[in-house]
Amino acid sequence: MGTASRKRTRASEANKIKEEPAQDVQPLRHHPRLWYDDGNVVLSCGSVAFKVHRSVLSRESTVLDDILAAGSERLEEGCPVYVLLDDSDQVAQMLECFYGFNLSYSDVKQLPFALVRALYRMGTKYDIQRLREDAVTRLRICYPETFEKWMRSPDPDDDNRPIAWSDGQDYAVLQLASESTTDDLYSILPVAFYECCSKSSAEEVAKLAERANAEGVEIWERHWEISRRLLVGMGRLEKSRREDTFCFLDGRNSPACVDPGRCKTALKDAAHSTRESPTILYDNRLSLDHMGELINKKMQKTICSECLSFVKKRHGEGRERAFDRLTEIFDLPISFENGPDA
Ligand SMILES: [Zn+2]
Repeated sequence: MGTASRKRTRASEANKIKEEPAQDVQPLRHHPRLWYDDGNVVLSCGSVAFKVHRSVLSRESTVLDDILAAGSERLEEGCPVYVLLDDSDQVAQMLECFYGFNLSYSDVKQLPFALVRALYRMGTKYDIQRLREDAVTRLRICYPETFEKWMRSPDPDDDNRPIAWSDGQDYAVLQLASESTTDDLYSILPVAFYECCSKSSAEEVAKLAERANAEGVEIWERHWEISRRLLVGMGRLEKSRREDTFCFLDGRNSPACVDPGRCKTALKDAAHSTRESPTILYDNRLSLDHMGELINKKMQKTICSECLSFVKKRHGEGRERAFDRLTEIFDLPISFENGPDA
């Protein structure tokens, strides 16, 4: 099952629009910016219409070129009308990019998620590489594939984050990745699952899935598949936090320890008091969190500096191990095409 066959399916689905019967002809509302008097093609999406140039559409997209080549009997102001079964906002965003509004999206530091999603979807459907690549680059920066990149990735409130943060975004990103028929968003899945799972309760996961469904994403199996992995992942992330992130609570002192008797006792006490704090080790899924402050607070004054470095090093390695484990925690790779666990 290759990419090529999927692409053909999509292209022929897109071609269907030219066969759309013209029975529900409503008066077309001209788009305020994308209605060129000298345009020679009208694209109609719902009640919104765009009058644009055939040469521009053909230059940008082979799929649109194929659609236009088929012709249309319906005319508006003497121009053939083609019905696109897409969201009119997304079509407007695609056309704005063709016509160089905002120069190019790749020059804009931060875009809202809805626009990034539109670039990805329209870029995929109409085979416009630059739109799709812009979206993929932004997503990969926000949801990087290595621990080092994740450590340096911008926080949600950072103005340099290439996608402006919005509520529920992690889940929406998972949803978008699940629509993809290629592997270009595969690398974002571990971190997207982690971000979504580590911050949500089981109740919130159910609500996110419900909300995404209500937004009209048609295939509920995707929600089911994502939700299932999030719910199963919760227990596994908590376990990973205890076993990887906090691996240093096993009480081992440094091989270079200068005062083994004192350090071993202090390490044991620190482990004991950490286990007694209810929210640090239990019902907590932040397995990638840096706990340097806690380590300092609990051990800085009670163990030797060799042991303190040793504990911090083990903590760092544990977090990396926790990162590497995300793939197994969320049962990745995930296949939405062939059903669960295919
Ligand atoms: Zn020591």
